[in-house]
Formats: sequence, structure tokens, C-alpha cells
Amino acid sequence: MADGVKEASLSIRSADLLFTPIPERIARLRDLAYNLWWSWHPEAQDLYRHIDADLWEEDHHNPVDFLRDVRQRKLEAAAADPAYLAKYDQVMAAFDRYMAAEDTWYRRTFGNGNGNDVMIAYFSAEFGLHESLPIYSGGLGVLAGDHVKEASDLGLPFVAVGFIYPQGYFRQRLDPSGWQEAIYSKLNFADIAATQALTADGREVVVEVDLPGRAIYAKVYRIQVGRVSLFLMDTDIHPNSPQDRELSARLYGGDQEMRIAQEIVLGIGGVRALRQLGIHPNVWHMNEGHSAFLVLELVREQVAQGMPFDEAWREVRAQSVFTTHTPVPAGNDAFPLHLIEKYFGSFWTQLGLTREQFFAIALQHQQWGPTFAMTVLALKGSHVHNGVSKLHGHVARGMWHWLYPGTAQDEVPITSITNGIHSSTWLAPAMRRLYDAALGPDWEADLDNVARWEKVRDIPDDQLWETRQALKRDLVMLARERVRQRHLRLGSPPQVWPVLDEKILTIGFARRFATYKRATLLFREPERLKALLNRSDRPVQIIFAGKAHPADDPGKQFIQQVYQMSQQPGFLGRILFVEEYDMALARALVQGVDVWLNTPRRPYEASGTSGQKAGLNGVVNVSILDGWWPEAYNGKNGWAIGEEREYSNQDEQDWHDSQHLYRILEQEVIPTYYDRGPDGIPHRWLAIAKESIATIAPVFSTRRMVKEYVTRLYLPVAEIQA
Ligand SMILES: *Cc1c(COP(=O)(O)O)cnc(C)c1O
Repeated sequence: MADGVKEASLSIRSADLLFTPIPERIARLRDLAYNLWWSWHPEAQDLYRHIDADLWEEDHHNPVDFLRDVRQRKLEAAAADPAYLAKYDQVMAAFDRYMAAEDTWYRRTFGNGNGNDVMIAYFSAEFGLHESLPIYSGGLGVLAGDHVKEASDLGLPFVAVGFIYPQGYFRQRLDPSGWQEAIYSKLNFADIAATQALTADGREVVVEVDLPGRAIYAKVYRIQVGRVSLFLMDTDIHPNSPQDRELSARLYGGDQEMRIAQEIVLGIGGVRALRQLGIHPNVWHMNEGHSAFLVLELVREQVAQGMPFDEAWREVRAQSVFTTHTPVPAGNDAFPLHLIEKYFGSFWTQLGLTREQFFAIALQHQQWGPTFAMTVLALKGSHVHNGVSKLHGHVARGMWHWLYPGTAQDEVPITSITNGIHSSTWLAPAMRRLYDAALGPDWEADLDNVARWEKVRDIPDDQLWETRQALKRDLVMLARERVRQRHLRLGSPPQVWPVLDEKILTIGFARRFATYKRATLLFREPERLKALLNRSDRPVQIIFAGKAHPADDPGKQFIQQVYQMSQQPGFLGRILFVEEYDMALARALVQGVDVWLNTPRRPYEASGTSGQKAGLNGVVNVSILDGWWPEAYNGKNGWAIGEEREYSNQDEQDWHDSQHLYRILEQEVIPTYYDRGPDGIPHRWLAIAKESIATIAPVFSTRRMVKEYVTRLYLPVAEIQA
């Protein structure tokens, strides 16, 4: 085994030799590249972009890749440019201040109390940190990435654990009929900001986990996210069989057997990785049920030390926190018992349990039979649990009521902490300049101060309008480039219809194409939609983007429908599907459109965060009252579609919601947008945008969210152990 590991490590070390030599004066560009701090500091990204803007785009905004590819001549030119050096020094000083800061929120608030003994470990199957690191598929991953960045900003004692998927999540292409194709390409680890994780005495970290009839090894990598370390496991190493090497190849790529094996490596291997690293958490946070096997490993450790199972279980439970994310029953992982028997047959004896006792830990009867359910394991194995919006908390209490017999549904112990976004990651630099001027340059330190955000109303309308229009132009350019590339790829004739018009009302709809998100709701009455898009005095265009899970054919059919509609007369040029929704495209969309449209079938959207990103940037939400929106909507900061009620008939629900949506667009959204003053500026529209910024930015941020996790979940859990 050691041989294989050495082989892999050699290739990483020799990657060093492949870097273009960097002039001494700007040599720290290399340090900066290996800390994802750059990913939420646009001025840090500018240090690379400035050296070679085309290469920066080509390399997908990835500084590690960039430094390997860049021409030495260009580096030397930068190192000789006083203006560049002044910026370089400024950014490096800010980076050093950040890394050394003693006065973080956590220190200031808890530094002299129990806060000193706390170490939080955060487990997630995916992390969305940046488009150059394709280890996320959608909302869950982006939330986890934002959580980690905020944990760093707030100075939490915090580590994160997950997978590095050598083939990542897929890249999306549509064939000429609009059918989604998934493209996987192998990630070159030397191209990303990952290094080998090392133990205190300098050994590489490789964990071993038992699978049926064999051991599997996972090598641990480290990604530095500001002050927080993220440890990622990879099973694609030499001693593993070819099949096991594939285990971590793709995110959500395999069958149930691959999935259980992945989750065993995540939960059990993850705990073992932290042990080797000498990290001793006393708060274990499971972000969704994928990592819940960690509970079993922690119990096994105690039982191996001689503690009886019941006592070990109580102790482990007291240290654990669980966040559930999905109100869609099929979204909760559950394994048939024969698979559990196969994978845990030797594990339960180590816990001192019988087969039946072990199954009972997480038993859930489904229509298709008894299962071992990860959400049940996580709920039973943790002390505190939460959903991700108030409405989702309510739904989750109903869903899991059966686990708490004798408890009234409202008393089911699942609370809620509403999701937020990491503002610096999602805020357009041009909008930041407006906020710097209106709120004061230190507004970011005070991000969750609601009163301070009232000052956005002082931003002059003409400045806000110009900025919004400029951001829309950026988006239009990006979309045109994507369309051009698609035509080149397909060998189709050059574009004859106009790809977007930067002057007209632009609606964005981008999300995972799960059917409950109802991407096609707008198309229920195609003629009505055509009329709405094509009025000459107030035209409208819609940009769609989003991936369907590679195994979700109904989701792919939705994409195809949208694509084919977009090619029809009356829609052509007014509706555009842009391929490859990732964090880069998400940023461009939530910053560049006028309206953010969200049409899930209530109550299946646990929270949603893309609308929060839009709101922060002055984009106006038009959304079903689902997820976070009922908490944010105040009648003045956007529009609500549909009612806060339940339907027994989905068709009826879809019909009601679509009628309401058309009416709101026709009678309110479009007229308000085109209601211009003599100066050509839509003042009424901008008042809504400002109301939206003021009410969304301070509240639906990870600043507020992670503080809530600390005070309501992490610290109480840390303290019950003391
Ligand atoms: C923010 C984000 C999401 C989550 O958005 P929803 O509101 O849940 O649809 C998904 N994918 C990407 C790339 C994102 O940036």
C-alpha cells in the first residue's frame, strides 16, 4: 500500500516543478493560490486576471492552474509594474491581517468561556466553494461551501470533511434536440488548490475502512479555506481494486451499492482521518444524512475502550448535530437491509449488538420494504436537529413525527435555522462599490445589522440603475459567448436571431431541473406567454439554466421541453437556455438579470438560496411562497406567487399557481419595470429593489445563519459534555 501512496504523492510534489518560475517580488501569488480566501475576494482574483485576462478565463478562474500555464514574460511584466505592485502589496497585507486576526467574532464573544474547548467538525458529501473545484452538484453543496467560508470569517474552531471526486460532477451539454449529455473529465489534482494532508509528524494521511471482503483506502487531501481546513478523501489510489478506485470518482454517480460504500468512507473514514490528523472535535455536525455513519464509528471507538453500548450511544449522541435538507421523501437515503447486512455484518458485533438490535437503530418501513434510513440514524444519533427554513422545520416535524410517539407534532424536536448565503462570494463588485459608499466602507464587518442596511435607500437611483444595467450587459456578453461556442461545437450555421437584448426586462430561472421545481410552469399557456414576451412597448426575455441529475430522465425531459420551446417562432430570441449551470454562471445570473423567478411546488423547496443571492444584488424575486421566501416577503420587496396552503391535487396546484404567475407578470411586474420617469429610470422598480436589498442582505446571509448555529446548536452541544 505504501508504494502506491508514495507514487501518488510524488506526482503531486513534482507538480511544483511545473510552475512557471515566479519573480521573487510577487512570489506570494503562489501562497495565495493555495488558500481559497481568494475565491471571495475579487481584488485577490484581479491580481491574476491583471497578468493575463484571457488565460484567467481559459483556466476557469483557477489561480493554481493559471500559475502553471502563465508566460514568465507576463509575470515579469507585472513584477516591474508599480501600479500592480501597489495592489499586490495591499492584497497580501489584507490576506495576512485576515489570517492572523485575533479579534474575530467568535473570540470576542466566547473567547474567555467554554468557547476555548470547542472544536466543530462539519461533514458534507459536497462542498461548493468555487467553479474550479467541481465537488458540488447544487444547493446543498453551495450551502456547505458558504458555511465553511463564514466559519472562517467568524473565526470558529472548525474543520470540514468531505470527498474529492476525481471526475467531479458532470459538465452539461445539450445535443441538437436539447437532450442533456453529461461529460466527465478527470480532474488533475496538480491543477487545484489541494495539498496532501499531513499528520503532526509529517506523514501523509491514508485511512482504511472495511468493505465486504476487503479493506479500502482513502488518501486525504487538504484545502485551505481562509482559516478553516477542509479535508477531502479520495479512494482513487493504488492498493484499491479498480472498482474501489472508482468509488469516489463521481458525485452521486453510482447505484445504491456504490452509494452505501461512499457513505461508509465519508462517515467512518472521515472520523478516522481526523483522528490521524490529531484533531479532536467535540461537536460533530452532519450536513444532511449522507455522513450519518460517523455516529456508528464514534460509538465503536468508545465500545472498543470498554464502554457499554448504551452509554457510548448517549455520549456520542450528546456531541452530534444534524441538519436535514429534504422534504422530498425519495431524497432521503435509505438502504435495504440485505445491503446493511452485507456491509455491516462484522460491524455490529464490534458494537456488541445483534443483527436485529443494529437494524432497529435506523429502521424505516418504506412502501418497498424495511430499510436502514440515514435520516433516522442521524436524528436518533444527534442531540439537536434542524430544518433549513421555518416552513421546512414544520414540514420536517410532520415527516418524522412517527419517530417520536406520544409527542405532539409541533413538539417534535426538530427546530429550524434558515439558510443564508456568503455575501462576499455572491455580491457583484460593482454593487459592493455602491454599498461601500452608502453604508460606509466597513459595512461588511456589520453585515447582519438590519438598521445599517436601511441606508441602501440613500443610493441615488441613477447610480443603482446604471450599475444594474452594466451587470446585465456582462451577463448578455457571457450568454452570447456560450451560444457562440455551442454553435461552433455543433457545427451549426452562425446565429441569425439576436441573442438577448440588454435593454429589455430579463427574467432568470436557474436551478436543478428536478420536476418539483416546475421549470415548465410558465409554458402551461404558450400563447399567453408569447404575447407577454413580445409586446413591442414592453418586451421580456427569459434565461434558463440548470442541470438535471444524470439519472433523472423526467428532469432531462423538462430541459428538452424548455430548449425546444426556445426554438419556436415567438420564443426564439426571447427565451434562451444556457448550458453548464455552475457557480460562475450562477454568479453572472443572480447579478445580471432583473427578476429572479422561482416556481417550486410548495412545500418541496426546503429553503432555496439562489433568490437570496439575487436579492443581495438588487434583483427582484418573483417566487412561490416556499422555502425561505415566506420569511422574507413583506409585500414590498418583490412578489409572491400562489397561496400559503396545501393542495391534495397537484394539477390543481399547478393550474392555480400558473394563473397567478401570469397575472402578476402581466399586471404588476412588467408594467412596474417599464414605468419610467422623464429621466428614463424606473424609480418605482428601484424602490422595490432597494427594499429587497435592505430586507434580504442582513438576514439571509451566512453571517446570521452561522451565528445561529453557534449559539443555538454548537455551543449548547459542547456545553452538555462539559
Ligand atoms: C445557489 C446555487 C444553487 C442553489 O439554488 P436554489 O435556490 O436551491 O435553486 C444551486 N446551484 C448553484 C450553482 C448555485 O450557485
